[in-house]
Amino acid sequence: APVELPIHEAVLGRAAEYGDRPALVDGLDGTTLGYDRLDHFSRRLAAALAASGVRKGDVLALHSPNSVLFPVVFYAASRCGAAVTTVHPLATEGEFAKQLADSGARWIVTVSALLDTARAAAQQAGRVAEILVCDRAEGHRSVQDLLACTDPEPSVTLDPAEDVAVLPYSSGTTGTPKGVMLTHRSIATNLAQLTPLVTNGPDDRVLAVLPFFHIYGLTALMNAPLRNGATVVVLPRFDLRQFLAAIEEHRITAVYVAPPIVLALAKHPLVADYDLSTLRYLVSAAAPLDAELAAACSRRLGLPPVLQAYGMTELSPGTHCVPLDAPNPPPGAVGKLIPNTEMRLVSLATGEDVAPGESGEILIRGPQVMKGYLGRPAETDAMIDPDGWLHTGDIGRADDDGWLYVVDRVKELIKYKGYQVAPADLEALLLGHDAIADAAVIGVVDADGNEVPKAFVVRQRGARLSEDEVIAYVAGQVAPYKKVRRVEFLDSVPRATTGKILRRELRARERSSTAR
Ligand code: ATP
Ligand code: MG
Repeated sequence: APVELPIHEAVLGRAAEYGDRPALVDGLDGTTLGYDRLDHFSRRLAAALAASGVRKGDVLALHSPNSVLFPVVFYAASRCGAAVTTVHPLATEGEFAKQLADSGARWIVTVSALLDTARAAAQQAGRVAEILVCDRAEGHRSVQDLLACTDPEPSVTLDPAEDVAVLPYSSGTTGTPKGVMLTHRSIATNLAQLTPLVTNGPDDRVLAVLPFFHIYGLTALMNAPLRNGATVVVLPRFDLRQFLAAIEEHRITAVYVAPPIVLALAKHPLVADYDLSTLRYLVSAAAPLDAELAAACSRRLGLPPVLQAYGMTELSPGTHCVPLDAPNPPPGAVGKLIPNTEMRLVSLATGEDVAPGESGEILIRGPQVMKGYLGRPAETDAMIDPDGWLHTGDIGRADDDGWLYVVDRVKELIKYKGYQVAPADLEALLLGHDAIADAAVIGVVDADGNEVPKAFVVRQRGARLSEDEVIAYVAGQVAPYKKVRRVEFLDSVPRATTGKILRRELRARERSSTAR
């Protein structure tokens, strides 16, 4: 059944029970916040925000790398009935200004290191009432100081099914980022659906290296472990050495990562220098993960198979995961459908359900489906049909036991002479080559007007590899229509923090080189 609770209650409802157990630890300086203080501080900051005029229905922009105070601000805003729009800490002032204008945010909470960008964005967007900083900066009120506020706590009545708790912007992988309206009910329910499957409890120490601003980090690394009494060790960004040192120093039991970190754990020599023996499991989501890479990672770390999960911002975010207690999850599966959720796989050509074992577009219906895109009714209608099915834009295939495999995104499929080629398949194959450190594939148009797969390849340091060798390597393992027909070597593949390949950057590069 759906969880009809505001998100701060769904998460912090049991904070008193956990007492002074550490809720959050700064992975770099060791600053620790117990459950009692997390709860208390979020109430005090809510009082201060309410006294400044933050009201139910307002939008607050949270612009910060992961920190011990991030959840304090998040739950405080929620206690005021304000929706939090999370902002990428590396957003440019233009991007930030767009998000402010689009979301109608009137408050910004940032950190002193990012203050210049926040100020410039606020000026560009107009309407911003106040910029607060988590730490301290001249001319701005500090969240740290407001934790001592003595004003009364706001008494706000929320309708969890209607009121928006979080307004994340989709990653913008396939187009303009859109504000995704997630209600208290949709995120609280999804939390309840996912936690019994990928469990972490009071004895767990979870490393939060993926950003809280993205819905994956917000759920898996903040809401879920804090609901369960676990300890969350926060890191402000991913740096392999820091990440490994934090696992060793803080005796981390669980990590939730994206595929590039799995790649580093499987292949990077530094990994051998650290004691990672406290780890119990590793979850990967947000982008395609090659099965062999996953196996190499768990073998090297002596862990059970990497647990995959699948979801999207519009789904609060999860619909599938590999349960921790699954005896033999098949390689490559992103998981099984979570409870109280329906899935269909439909043919792109006919819109009808595909035959068992065939692939089709993944459609989802359930309590975690977003309320809609803010201010974009036409885009919302294009995404959610009148029967309530959300069209994910992803192609999937399910086996007889209900395991789901994600093939690729509809929009990324390359159409070569009427055949469909999934870039993700070719990328996985390329990553299996010893001399290849990273790879990305897009469709480019050849001289005859055909769309053909082109691979952007990053060579392992010191490795020798020619374009023809790459082409021959792939050709030896795939049907002829899937052959990579163009190769270009790069220093690095442009990726988002969640590991998503920024294909639009590769396309732009392609356009500018063909124009030349
Ligand atoms: P935009 O919608 O703005 O183009 P985006 O779709 O990348 O951006 P997110 O909501 O962050 O934004 O990502 C969801 C997408 O990530 C899914 O639709 C799917 O394509 C991909 N994804 C998530 N989990 C997995 C997984 N386990 N395996 C493969 N792909 C995944
Ligand atoms: Mg998307």
